[in-house]
Amino acid sequence: MTTLTRRRDLQSPNETWRIFFGDVQAGTIAKRAEGPSGSPAWQWFCGFYPGSHPGEQQAGSAQSYEQARRAFEAAWHVFFSNRSPEDFDEWREHHAFTAWKYAMWDAGCRLPPQTPSGRSRCFCGTLIDLTTTVAHIRSSHMPPPQSFDPGQRD
Ligand SMILES: [Zn+2]
Repeated sequence: MTTLTRRRDLQSPNETWRIFFGDVQAGTIAKRAEGPSGSPAWQWFCGFYPGSHPGEQQAGSAQSYEQARRAFEAAWHVFFSNRSPEDFDEWREHHAFTAWKYAMWDAGCRLPPQTPSGRSRCFCGTLIDLTTTVAHIRSSHMPPPQSFDPGQRD
């Protein structure tokens, strides 16, 4: 089965781990900024959106990374048991579209809705318009779908 993995977020000033389930970000575990002594040192956030309903994401705090990790895993178990493959696809698509928009801006390209004609050129060189943009992003700027079936778990 697909397991959770973690990657250090080097952009964050405090120790922060981005937790992944395959290619989907499942949440974060992060050390808090210096607070009053005795306050919990770690916080965690579990779940992703879109691809879930409001209120399904959970968060909490803990005294140690290990405690935060255990609480996160328990929350993920609940969150994951309520997910369908389509939920993961929804998040992947949203993530890919957001990344594409930033790549367009970084390349100095305008999005079709920002042009008078409704047509533009993708940073990859392809001509796009209001009706073809979504299909173009799906076909050219999304990783291939990962096959996974939440019903099949070890
Ligand atoms: Zn393109």
